[in-house]
Amino acid sequence: MKLLLIRLCFATALFTVGTGHIALASKAAVILMYHRFGEGDLPSTNTTIAQLEDHIEALKEGGYTVVPLADVVSALNGAHSLPPRSVAITVDDAYRSFLTIGWPRLKAAAFPVTLFVATEGVEAGYSDMMTWDKILTLQQEGVSIGAHSHGHNHFPSLSAAAVNQDLARMTATFVRGLGVAPKLFAYPYGEASLADMTAVRDAGFTAGFGQHSGAVGPLANTFYLPRFALNEQYGSAKRFRLIIETVPLPVAAISPADPVLQQNPPTITIEVADSLSNLADVTCFGPTGAPLAVDVRANILSLTPMTPFPIGRTRLNCTLQSVDRITQGRWHWFGWQMIAGFESEGVAVHPRNR
Ligand SMILES: [Zn+2]
Repeated sequence: MKLLLIRLCFATALFTVGTGHIALASKAAVILMYHRFGEGDLPSTNTTIAQLEDHIEALKEGGYTVVPLADVVSALNGAHSLPPRSVAITVDDAYRSFLTIGWPRLKAAAFPVTLFVATEGVEAGYSDMMTWDKILTLQQEGVSIGAHSHGHNHFPSLSAAAVNQDLARMTATFVRGLGVAPKLFAYPYGEASLADMTAVRDAGFTAGFGQHSGAVGPLANTFYLPRFALNEQYGSAKRFRLIIETVPLPVAAISPADPVLQQNPPTITIEVADSLSNLADVTCFGPTGAPLAVDVRANILSLTPMTPFPIGRTRLNCTLQSVDRITQGRWHWFGWQMIAGFESEGVAVHPRNR
C-alpha cells in the first residue's frame, strides 16, 4: 500500500529514535483552554469557581511549571527546552468573567495566561465581553493577548479571500485597540483546513491552536497545536489531574493531512516516530467516543472507520499508557480534529462549496 503520508512540521531535526525520551521530556507541554468562569447557566463553556480553584491547587502541588504559551512555541521551534511537567493556560473569547473571576485567582497563583480575543465582539461592545480598556488593563497586569479572528466564523467554511480579509481586519482592530497585533492565533471552534493554517502562518503568526485534546511534543504541527478544553463536564478534579500528566504520542505524520475531509468515512494513517515497545496497545476513539479498530504494523497505525463521520467536527483521540522509564504510567495522548462538512439550513454542505 502506498502511504500518502504528508509530513507535519518537524520542530527539531534532532529528534531521532533512541533520544526520543530526552526530547519528549524537554519539549513537551500540556495546554489548557478555558472560556467562562462562574457562569453556571452556560455549563458547556463554563468552569465553576470550585473547579478553577481545584485546578490551581493541583498545579501548585504536583510539581508542575506553568509557563507562558509563547515559551511552548519557542521551545518547539528549537530555541530552548521546557521544564518537566510544563503546563500553559489559555482562555478564549474575552468574556467578562475572566476579568472578574478567572484572572484574580490565576494572578494570585502567579500563573501566566494567554487570552485569545476575537475582535468583532469587543469592538461591538457585546454585553458579556470585555472592552478594550479592560483588556489593556489585563495586558498591563501580565496577561498575554492572542488573536482569535475578527468575526469568529468557521474558517473552513470561508473562501481563502474571506479568511485573509478576516485576518487583516482583526489585525487592524488589534492595532487600534491595543497598539500592537498578537503573534499567536487560536482558530475559532478549533477549526482549520490546511489552507487556513497556511493563511495564518503567511499573515505573520508564529503558531496556531486548535481545540482538540492531546499533549504537545517536539513533532507537533506548530500551526495546529492541541489544547485540552475545560468546562463543567470535562473539568472534574479526576480528569484534570489525568490531563496535566499526559505526555505526547510522538506522531510524525497523519493522513489525510487536511482536517477538512474529502472522503467520508476517511481512511486514517498515523505514523509514530519513536519506537514505543507497547504501541500495539494504543486505543483510538472516534466520533461517538467509542474505540475504533486500529491496525498496528511497526510504527504505523491504520484506522478504517466503517460508518461516515457526522457532519461538523469530529475529534480523534489516541491514547497509550507509557512504559518509558521516565514517564511510566502516564498517558501518551494524540488528538486531531476533522471536519466533514457543515449544516446549512438543514442541508449538509461541503466546506468549500459555500
Ligand atoms: Zn472562541
